[in-house]
Amino acid sequence: MESHNVTLIPGDGIGLELTDATRRVLEATGVKFNWDIVHAGTDVMAEYGTPLPDHVLESVRKNKVALKGPITTPVGSGFRSVNVALRKELELYCCLRPCKSYTGTPTLYSNVDLVVVRENMEDLYAGIEFEKDSADANKLISFLGGLSAKIRPDSGISIKPLSEFGCRRIVHFAFEYARANKRKKVTAVHKANIMKFSDGLFLAVARDVAPAYPDVEFEDRIVDNMTMQLVKKPQQFDVLVCPNLYGDIISDLCAGLVGGLGVAPGANLGDGIALFEPTHGSAPKYKGMNKANPMAMILSGVLMLRHINEFAAAEQVERAIAAVIADGKNVTYDLKSEDRQGSAVGTSQVADAIIDIMGKI
Ligand code: NAD
Repeated sequence: MESHNVTLIPGDGIGLELTDATRRVLEATGVKFNWDIVHAGTDVMAEYGTPLPDHVLESVRKNKVALKGPITTPVGSGFRSVNVALRKELELYCCLRPCKSYTGTPTLYSNVDLVVVRENMEDLYAGIEFEKDSADANKLISFLGGLSAKIRPDSGISIKPLSEFGCRRIVHFAFEYARANKRKKVTAVHKANIMKFSDGLFLAVARDVAPAYPDVEFEDRIVDNMTMQLVKKPQQFDVLVCPNLYGDIISDLCAGLVGGLGVAPGANLGDGIALFEPTHGSAPKYKGMNKANPMAMILSGVLMLRHINEFAAAEQVERAIAAVIADGKNVTYDLKSEDRQGSAVGTSQVADAIIDIMGKI
């Protein structure tokens, strides 16, 4: 049987416990992995002088597939986000976040099954920022003043670039994904009525690309209306394609529709490289407590299994997760209703329960 070379980045915070649980479940499928375990984040700063050492990037470039736990970005420390840097360095331009209801999850909704396709490289995440009172900010403000833009002199500025290339690439991805996964509709999310030259370009490109996929329905929504419609009737949506910032916000909203961050997996995809990670962060307050839900990371592993063509193993794990959720006994606090919090189990017990059911189905 083929053995798959996969870079494993355990992360920090709850990452180590989740990675351990995920690895046990994936290995219980019988699929063989050669894990190349490498570390990134504040914990490696002292040893390598950087939170993202070159050998981590080299490993992902070599293996082309990576599974990653969450990594903390300390606020206000000047420490750049390893998560954003990984996506940039490896040109992982698409963030794919499926949000699906599993029966038994305590949520307001059922039958939600949608996928957020988020552009990962551009928009306000491009990192083009000018600090209030800096020489560059002052220069820019005086230049923009010359164009009669009304900007207060005490402004901080973040720039939002969207390129035609980037928009076309992500919209094509969304339609190709819809077609390959037998999904019926793509909805482009934007604020083109206000940002005419960035979101306006995104919408124009989406409208230009859509006719090449006559088998997939196309529509667009202004982002504020989109959030309202998602909360009102999420079942009407299928694939959402979004510029970076709206995609970030909407994918957390969609995670909330199906039971929260504990069940929201994700993939960062580029040309020939794929990095799988949960939508959630490192939840430092739960570090080492055997409390966090490992399902989002295990479901990210399911996406990875499909990516490496291990479809039977992917089905087996996903069905076992669905069965554990439906049974409701061996789930973490986030999947227990308020009155049953005392019966929540820990991270490793969830993995045990999934593995136990995998042996029976
Ligand atoms: P977070 O996602 O870590 O946690 C928010 C809350 O969601 C937690 O307090 C917890 O109540 C809940 N939660 C998250 N994951 C859970 C799980 N698996 N099971 C049960 N409940 C869970 O968001 P945050 O507190 O804003 O961020 C913490 C750190 O993580 C920050 O440093 C942030 O920059 C980083 N972060 C990293 C990634 C990544 O690695 N891709 C993504 C988002 C945030």
